[in-house]
Amino acid sequence: MKNKQLVMIPGPTPVTRSIQNQMGREVAAFGDPDFVTDYKELIQDLKILWKTEGEVFVVAGTGTMAMEMAIANTLQKDDHLLIISHGFFGDRFIDICERKGIHVDVLSSEWGQIVPMETIEQKLKEKKYQAVTVTHVDTSTGVKAPIEAIGNLVKSFDDTLFIVDGVCSTAGEQEYIDEMNIDILLTGTQKAFGVPPGLAILWAGPKAMDRRKKLGRIPEYYIDFDKWLPIMHDPSKYFATPAVNMIWALKESVNLIKQEGLETRYARHKKTGNAMQAALEGIGFSILAEKEHRASTLSNLLYPEGMDDANFRKLLYQEGVMVAGGLGAYAGKMFRLGHMGNVDMHDLVATLAAIERALHHSGQSVDLGKSVGIFLSEMLS
Ligand code: PMP
Repeated sequence: MKNKQLVMIPGPTPVTRSIQNQMGREVAAFGDPDFVTDYKELIQDLKILWKTEGEVFVVAGTGTMAMEMAIANTLQKDDHLLIISHGFFGDRFIDICERKGIHVDVLSSEWGQIVPMETIEQKLKEKKYQAVTVTHVDTSTGVKAPIEAIGNLVKSFDDTLFIVDGVCSTAGEQEYIDEMNIDILLTGTQKAFGVPPGLAILWAGPKAMDRRKKLGRIPEYYIDFDKWLPIMHDPSKYFATPAVNMIWALKESVNLIKQEGLETRYARHKKTGNAMQAALEGIGFSILAEKEHRASTLSNLLYPEGMDDANFRKLLYQEGVMVAGGLGAYAGKMFRLGHMGNVDMHDLVATLAAIERALHHSGQSVDLGKSVGIFLSEMLS
């Protein structure tokens, strides 16, 4: 019999029934008063939960569009941007910005490590930057950036905006927008929100909105803050058709977050991340990210000697679990496992058991049940 399939890649993540039900609803007119109320409440909740006085934008598109939207609304040709990159997604800002004629300086770490704070400080003192970007959790490396410390540093540079990519972190890792001096936090729905891919979410503080104003008319149309702001303030207005069912799905996800409590959700991710990582290290994998900079939302697992990536992932898929391969120089050497969003104990225990079966079928010696045992004892301690 074929196993049920679990989507354990680092996004999209498993979608719970109540969120799926919102996707399956009969579509409503975007002017339907009930939908307008729902949209309004969603915008409000996103501001309250992330404790910000700033604006929030919910627009159809992916995380990449959110990255582009953050840049388009804050930087223009010949501006200078400092990119702090801990991997593949940090680097994505380079191409986005160079196409606009923005000058970029890139501080890159070895994959698995972080750029030291002193290096960032030195760079910021050397030259005037209109913005700094950092990826909170780089999905290619599983590294979590010290955004609080970077935010503190950027705060002393008046005209420099702090832009944080939260695609693989928001709703799973601690992010306090105003407190951490974040001017723009951007994310997508498909990871720690546990909603299918399709919506971009951006929070923008007063410093970012001020910058938008100074730019005047920008070349981009669909992703212009100025076009969307009136809709965010009054969703009964029209600019471009909102993704009605996606907005309902995100609203349900936010309702689940409210029920759980955002702080409890962060603590759950931390505990789950630690337990999954201990379990997988216990059966021979090693983790790319240095321990003190390790994300809770996913694990990037290096294979023990002699294991074939394609064969292992094929066997794992047959056992009912889909994971992602390594990126860049780590293609073939590592797999990436998401454990964020609305995954529960059933999903996680089943994933570990499937990994053990795939190891067994690939001819590795494995102490069956060991990873599940470690996981449970970590979770129950
Ligand atoms: N940033 C990060 C940290 C990501 O993990 C991803 C997607 N994996 C993106 C940006 C791009 O998002 P999307 O694929 O939704 O365009």
